[in-house]
Amino acid sequence: MRNHQDDLTLDPDDWHAFRALAHRMVDDSLDHMATLRDRAPWTPIPADVRAALTAEPLPHEPQGAERVYDEFFERVLPYTNGNRHPRFWGWIQGNGTALGMMADMLAAGMNAHLAGLDQAPKLVELQVIAWLAESMGFPRDASGLLVSGGSMANILGLAVARHAKAGYDVRQEGMFGGPRLTVYTSTEVHSWAQKAVELFGMGNASLRRVPVDAALRVDVAAMRAAIAADRARGERPICIIGSAGTVNSAAIDDLHALADLAKAEDLWFHVDGAFGALAALSPELAPLVAGMERADSLAFDLHKWGYLPYEIACVLVRDAEAHRATFALTPTYLRDEGRGVIAGGLPFADRGPELTRGFKALKVWMTLKAEGVGRIADVIEQNVAQARAFGAAVARIAHVEVVAPVSLNVVCFRYAPPGVAPEVQDALNKELLLRIQEEGLAIPSGSQLGGRYILRVSCTNHRSQWSDFVALLDGVARLTAALDSGA
Ligand SMILES: *Cc1c(COP(=O)(O)O)cnc(C)c1O
Repeated sequence: MRNHQDDLTLDPDDWHAFRALAHRMVDDSLDHMATLRDRAPWTPIPADVRAALTAEPLPHEPQGAERVYDEFFERVLPYTNGNRHPRFWGWIQGNGTALGMMADMLAAGMNAHLAGLDQAPKLVELQVIAWLAESMGFPRDASGLLVSGGSMANILGLAVARHAKAGYDVRQEGMFGGPRLTVYTSTEVHSWAQKAVELFGMGNASLRRVPVDAALRVDVAAMRAAIAADRARGERPICIIGSAGTVNSAAIDDLHALADLAKAEDLWFHVDGAFGALAALSPELAPLVAGMERADSLAFDLHKWGYLPYEIACVLVRDAEAHRATFALTPTYLRDEGRGVIAGGLPFADRGPELTRGFKALKVWMTLKAEGVGRIADVIEQNVAQARAFGAAVARIAHVEVVAPVSLNVVCFRYAPPGVAPEVQDALNKELLLRIQEEGLAIPSGSQLGGRYILRVSCTNHRSQWSDFVALLDGVARLTAALDSGA
């Protein structure tokens, strides 16, 4: 047991030495970021590194910050999935920015508690939410919250939808206050939707997955019919989820038609714009996501097509009172006294399930101000142009076909040598993908579309140059030729 006068602290013993180490950390991080193109996007983890990172006993004795940093530099930093690299186009990931990294460092240094309270960081977050609302065509007085990712943002949007449209007090009664509540979306919806209805206790059976057309957009007439059939059975439809950019192919639902349908049926209209919503920042691309601004709630990431480092996403809710009513709960120890530190209360704690939250808003605030929305929109437009050009070029490679319209920034393609059974083609495409990744050439990802295995190039990458795509095109041509000849 320590003495109460020991004066122990976790601050550095020697601030001068710590400062030198901290400067090295910043320098190394920026050096690494500035030279990404010189390395392979992905390097398998060597066996000794894997062992060191998985078998170490709980460290009881101090190793010292310098030694731990050296270990991070050697064993952790080099072995990522590659998403910062200029030739990373897998799934939908973002690649982060230098300014975003520094902003996160500043935010961690401040260690601000963002439930609310009367402090400048709260004003920064409110300002950022108002800017994001404006940029998405929402009213500036819409409510919103910065959260960890698109999944969380979407889940919160659906929670507000359920509270607003259940027809009874869902906070009090849970799922026991009335008929089954049902939600309508497309078969192409991201997995968050199923997680949400499961988490809410509504069950996966509450999620109606309506078929899509040839362009992978939801069939609105089929959705209308599904709603009518459910009503006839006595269920209670509450919400339509539209996609502004599906995860597989970036297909964009007819959002105006869905908004009209939601209005006619008195349903909540939620839009998952995880990455696609960011197209609204560009006046040229904004028409592609038209109708999104009519949503009751909209979820989008800033760590994908906003290029910011993980984690950051936003949910916007048009009706601020509906948002608050879903989550607000003020225990006596958190009451707004109208003055002092707690003046203004805890607005962010009242907009979601989290109480303690970090200062995620700082990287958005600094980036929007430093770059301006226009410059971010320019990079987004560049990504769309790159995807369109890549789609056209890859389709010119022998036996390669583009299998979904390039509606935004995602190209789905497939190697389809003639006279080869589809299942064998699937295996060849998997092999093609793994060779591209393992050679250190680039990182596309794989998926299923129309029951067939495909390769996807998804460009939310501000570091990609056209020469990076040419490298992949050359690789696809070379590797498919090798597969053609049975190699
Ligand atoms: C990525 C994605 C999500 C989930 O967002 P996270 O930030 O990964 O939680 C939801 N919907 C779509 C369409 C996505 O692309």
